[in-house]
Amino acid sequence: MIHEILPVGPLQCNCSVIGDEGTREAMVIDPGDDIEDVIALITKHNLKVKQIVITHAHIDHVGGAMKLRAATGAPILLNQNDYALLKMLDMQAAWCGMASPGKVEIDQSVAQSDKVKAGSLVADVIHTPGHTEGSVCLYFPLEKKLIAGDTLFAGSIGRTDLPGGSFEKIINSLQEKVLALPDETVVVPGHGPLTTIGEEREGNPFLR
Ligand SMILES: [Zn+2]
Repeated sequence: MIHEILPVGPLQCNCSVIGDEGTREAMVIDPGDDIEDVIALITKHNLKVKQIVITHAHIDHVGGAMKLRAATGAPILLNQNDYALLKMLDMQAAWCGMASPGKVEIDQSVAQSDKVKAGSLVADVIHTPGHTEGSVCLYFPLEKKLIAGDTLFAGSIGRTDLPGGSFEKIINSLQEKVLALPDETVVVPGHGPLTTIGEEREGNPFLR
């Protein structure tokens, strides 16, 4: 598995470029900004992007999606429970003091237990409401890797004080779905350093 993690934009969202070494097919997760740099990585590895997956509709995760779609022709996937939030991108931009990326069109909703594929790579969609209603994580069972969006961070969890957030729901998502994964699973959070499920199960103060 080719996996490049690139922190993008002023909020340094971790954008993942994940590719199949054989077929060169790839998916890009959370292309929030700096699309020229994302495309440079795609070109460097000679990849064909088949899917653009958005973990949730916050501007720092979705802001560059239309530019990447225009460059690659790949569809944009987002859970439908975040469509309302996506309509508030102008407001989100104003809150962050950022330029609005304009309208983002979703090609397909992804829901619990859907599979997202690129070449031989398969990710299971885990719906983890809490940070937003439509937050999802992507789990690669063969590689034991979780792309967690803003649901789980090293030593912390996603904030729940923004529109659509719920502390009760994020704790439930984490306890019922995320902590059900094996300890050795490598977690790539939406921001900041990598961690593992085992480390978070043991040391994350929100998961005690
Ligand atoms: Zn977020």
